[in-house]
Amino acid sequence: MQNPKPKIDQIDVSAKPTKPRLVPGTRYTAAEIHEMFRRFSIQRPEPRGELEHVNPFTLLVAVALSAQATDAGVNKATRSLFKVADTPEKMVALGVDKLGEYIRTIGLWRNKAKNVIALSHALITQYASVVPNDREELVKLPGVGRKTANVVLNMAFGQSTMAVDTHIFRIGNRLGLAPGKTPEEVEARLMKVIPSEYLYHAHHWLILHGRYVCKARKPECRACVIADICKAAEKTSEIPAPLVPLPPQII
Ligand code: SF4
Repeated sequence: MQNPKPKIDQIDVSAKPTKPRLVPGTRYTAAEIHEMFRRFSIQRPEPRGELEHVNPFTLLVAVALSAQATDAGVNKATRSLFKVADTPEKMVALGVDKLGEYIRTIGLWRNKAKNVIALSHALITQYASVVPNDREELVKLPGVGRKTANVVLNMAFGQSTMAVDTHIFRIGNRLGLAPGKTPEEVEARLMKVIPSEYLYHAHHWLILHGRYVCKARKPECRACVIADICKAAEKTSEIPAPLVPLPPQII
């Protein structure tokens, strides 16, 4: 039997509509955050980093070289480098000057060459030539910061990490998804609010979203699959773009 409709004089007109419960520190409910990442996962089912490498060591070197450089530029240089130096021993044998010849097209190459040789040396002497799968150890290596360590842990060791680059930092703040003054603050909040089943790929999804859609100067909201959910002040469209898998894009 259906419930009888309440009579007009039984309706409590003083009752206020309940406010949606936001995830602390964000402008979104848990359901909204889940939906954002569900859509990213449909759009880009298997995102991949594009830094070319043949083992954890060459990945570590490639990531260290990629600071303030494009991945395409790094790949161009490392393609021939890794043919001759794909282990810490071979890299040390190459030496700073020869290594410099391979990576001269990459910004800050002099410093990076010194760091790569120093980190190769440290790997040989302190880690039996094996790249550690531990952040605390990785950041002890010369030229390896938290972001580099997070990329290596994610791509080489399958760990769910959040390497906050300029795109992720902007998105976290712009959308009010993970506001923070430093990359570490944004990283910590994203790690907390992103549903665990989406955490492994989230770093790549956010980079791609920032690079191709939610761009720094002018976000392309009409091409954005989360436009209806987004609460950014800069938003220019409420209508989400069609949710279809995209061809693989270079990260
Ligand atoms: S709607 Fe616009 S501002 Fe919001 S995430 Fe999409 S592109 Fe960025």
